[in-house]
Amino acid sequence: MQIIKDILLVGAGIAGTFLQRELVLQHNASVYWIDNDHFLSSSILAAGITNPVTGKRATLIPDADILIQKRKEWQDKDPLFARYFVQKNAFRPFKTIDDVNAWTARSTNMPVTVHYTNPEPEYIHTDLGGIEIHNAGYMHVNNFLQEAKKQTHCINAKINYSEISIEKHQIVWKKENISFKHVVFCEGNQVRYNPYLSWLPIIPTKGEILEIEVKEPICRHFMFSTGIYIVPKTHNRYFVGATYNPDDTDANPTEHGKNELIEKLNAFLKVPYKLTGHWAGIRPATSDRIPLIGQHPHYQNVWFFNGLGSKGVFYAPLLAEYLAQSILCQTPIPEQFTLSRKTLKFDINNISL
Ligand SMILES: Cc1cc2nc3c(=O)[nH]c(=O)nc-3n(C[C@H](O)[C@H](O)[C@H](O)COP(=O)(O)OP(=O)(O)OC[C@H]3O[C@@H](n4cnc5c(N)ncnc54)[C@H](O)[C@@H]3O)c2cc1C
Repeated sequence: MQIIKDILLVGAGIAGTFLQRELVLQHNASVYWIDNDHFLSSSILAAGITNPVTGKRATLIPDADILIQKRKEWQDKDPLFARYFVQKNAFRPFKTIDDVNAWTARSTNMPVTVHYTNPEPEYIHTDLGGIEIHNAGYMHVNNFLQEAKKQTHCINAKINYSEISIEKHQIVWKKENISFKHVVFCEGNQVRYNPYLSWLPIIPTKGEILEIEVKEPICRHFMFSTGIYIVPKTHNRYFVGATYNPDDTDANPTEHGKNELIEKLNAFLKVPYKLTGHWAGIRPATSDRIPLIGQHPHYQNVWFFNGLGSKGVFYAPLLAEYLAQSILCQTPIPEQFTLSRKTLKFDINNISL
């Protein structure tokens, strides 16, 4: 006999996991969840940082207020997220006198406190002080993902696209004899191999990250953001990340990536450290660095959640809510997260479906 479920959800990275929790815990949807633990997945590597002030010019990210608000709501509504998210302000040192002057003028409208002295002089180099960014934090991503998979059964398998038939009112997974009302693909960079969605404007972007061991208790008051970030991992281990390279799409860690991070780390950290790990992964990015959610233009029961780039943990709580409401209640998705936003410069008419 054929089993009938609401949703087939493909992918258990940051996108798929937040969406699964929203669909099941908040909407009580019946979800069949599947993931193949692909070695190129970027979620297992993420340091989990959420920082509302980023980039070379230290600007507030778009939608910062609502992203912060949603993150707080998730801390209240999801005990697992609350367990693995750590609220911690970020310290970003001034590099030049021009930085200092620019900040004195701009900081009134920004969620920051300006420090004119070094707040942790025993551990970090900065003669000029810096800004303390409020409402930042980090999540122990891997623990969250593993625990979420255990809480709700996630099938370890790869979707073979030829085994799915997409019909007007249902999706049938022939091999398992299950039918669904919707399928949602949260496949990260692997979406390039999906025959229904390979046209999505996702840019695979390599990132490398280090793990260091430090005897001194750094990051007691802040995590650090200075061209690289330094974020606690366990009690004396820290993530140092991350490089951003859209021109390299294999997942091998490189000497070049390692040296780039070490050079920046040495210019910042005063205390000795031991290098204990070095990994690389492929982020699913977009040209305007804003994620993408929505519905397939031809198949109304095929959905996607992708393009989380380097801000997966920040965007996923908000976008999981928007997407769940759109799938289950037909609520329109705000334009800035859809394919039709202007900043993406994507013409849906130019793709062959
Ligand atoms: C070095 C590095 C550091 C980072 N640091 C941070 C950070 O500090 N903060 C932050 O917010 N973000 C960070 N990121 C970015 C973050 O990792 C990404 O935004 C996020 O992981 C994207 O999640 P995703 O679920 O879209 O994709 P993925 O993590 O790639 O997950 C997709 C999942 O789908 C599965 N899958 C794909 N196709 C199929 C199929 N056909 N059948 C079954 N399963 C399938 C894969 O196995 C995978 O598990 C970092 C990334 C890197 C590389």
